Amino acid sequence: MAPSGPGRKAARTSPETGPGRRLVTPSGPDQARAPLALVLVQIDRIVIVGGGLAGSRAAAELRAREYAGEITMLGAEPHPPYDRPPLSKKLMMGELDSTSLDTDAAALRLDLRLDEAATGLAGRAVRSERGDYRFDRLIVATGAAPVRLPGPGRQHVLRTLDDALDIRARLRQGTRLAIVGAGWIGAELATAAVTRGCDVTVLEAAATPAAAALGEAAGATMVPWYAAAGVDLRLGQPVESVQGGGLALPGGGWLEADLIVTAVGVRPCTGWLDGSGVDLGNGIVVDSRLQASVPGVYAAGDCAAFWSGRYGRRLRVEHWDTALHSPTVAAANALGAEQDYDPVPYFWSEQFGRMVQYVGHHEREDRLVWRGDPADEHWAACWVAGPAAPEPAAAQTAGAGRLVAVLTVGRPRDMLQGRRLMQAGRTVDTARLADPDVPMRDAAMT
Ligand code: FAD
Repeated sequence: MAPSGPGRKAARTSPETGPGRRLVTPSGPDQARAPLALVLVQIDRIVIVGGGLAGSRAAAELRAREYAGEITMLGAEPHPPYDRPPLSKKLMMGELDSTSLDTDAAALRLDLRLDEAATGLAGRAVRSERGDYRFDRLIVATGAAPVRLPGPGRQHVLRTLDDALDIRARLRQGTRLAIVGAGWIGAELATAAVTRGCDVTVLEAAATPAAAALGEAAGATMVPWYAAAGVDLRLGQPVESVQGGGLALPGGGWLEADLIVTAVGVRPCTGWLDGSGVDLGNGIVVDSRLQASVPGVYAAGDCAAFWSGRYGRRLRVEHWDTALHSPTVAAANALGAEQDYDPVPYFWSEQFGRMVQYVGHHEREDRLVWRGDPADEHWAACWVAGPAAPEPAAAQTAGAGRLVAVLTVGRPRDMLQGRRLMQAGRTVDTARLADPDVPMRDAAMT
């Protein structure tokens, strides 16, 4: 689709229903606006903003559903869609240089516009510096961008292919690397950097690694992994600012470093929608069908804060599995389907020679049940809904409860079985759950 804008003809709108047109019965906000009970809406221009995994999956799903109209995709990066998980793993180790998703723009009849960021909405058009792109449906898949620390010193972040190649080129024998943040990205980068001979220090403000995602009890199990790999992990260590040649720490402290990578989390890329009328709040606020507050606008992947009936709350999941599956629902609904997206969320991390997997969603008050010894190579931790009964510690694994999350280290079968139990909303016998010799599925009570 050619951009329409000042000095350009507006993009063609055809009143006829021809090949390539899709007529749907409006639902949701469109239905509310429809003057008649049954009005057909013509869809022949779909714009996707964001050229990552979620954007490319949305385009593929539109074509898989035989949508034959125009698809325009705007991607802020100069690269065609690529996968991010290998950036901190195989690519950082030097085992591969490209993580391309092999999106076949020609086969998808995709008007792929790289290096072009959307800057706003102008009515039913997406605006960029190069023009306006009118849409009947808009799918937003702009992902998230890393948070940076204050200070004038040079800090790297690890989000894009260019970030990863730049950092990798600097990981030389003896490089003093300071990583701020012991979350998933920090741990994976530390793993690669020590393998490449760097002298690695990780500074973490919380009391344990991955505390925000897992809580301190489960996060504490990861502390020895850093030491065993030769990484200097400093917990409870906030950083004030990034300065030339190092990090300024509270109380006049200083850590000298040749290379500084900030890995303290990401924020959804929604600034371009400020003032557009699309509800924002820790991401693009969408309902269980991934529809935003403005009719015809959908969101998927890292930027979407979707309503989960399963958990009775809004979730924004910054993980690959969500970027893989949510766009198929957004695309289907954009074409008139009425599907809910309500997954049991999943992610994995590969760090210090271990495969770490987490499935589900738990809250601070949920009860932690250990399954095996975290000092071993293979173990799991499970969360069961609700607080522990006021019983003596020895009796706390007794009883029953609804399984809400499972963390596994080198026990992929537990992850798969746990996921099925959660999808089915099963209640488990916590004593059996705690026994690593009992298959997890056999902990189910009903
Ligand atoms: P993104 O991949 O962020 O893509 C969004 C795209 O939109 C970007 O290219 C961005 O530049 C573009 N964009 C932003 N704003 C605009 C705009 N205004 N106009 C046009 N384009 C715009 N998850 C796991 O589950 N397991 C892992 O092991 C794992 N490892 C990871 C390792 C790294 C280094 C990173 C960075 C992430 C990792 N993830 C992992 C997370 C996973 O990669 C993300 O959840 C996934 O990439 C999200 O996909 P997305 O398409 O929603 O967003």
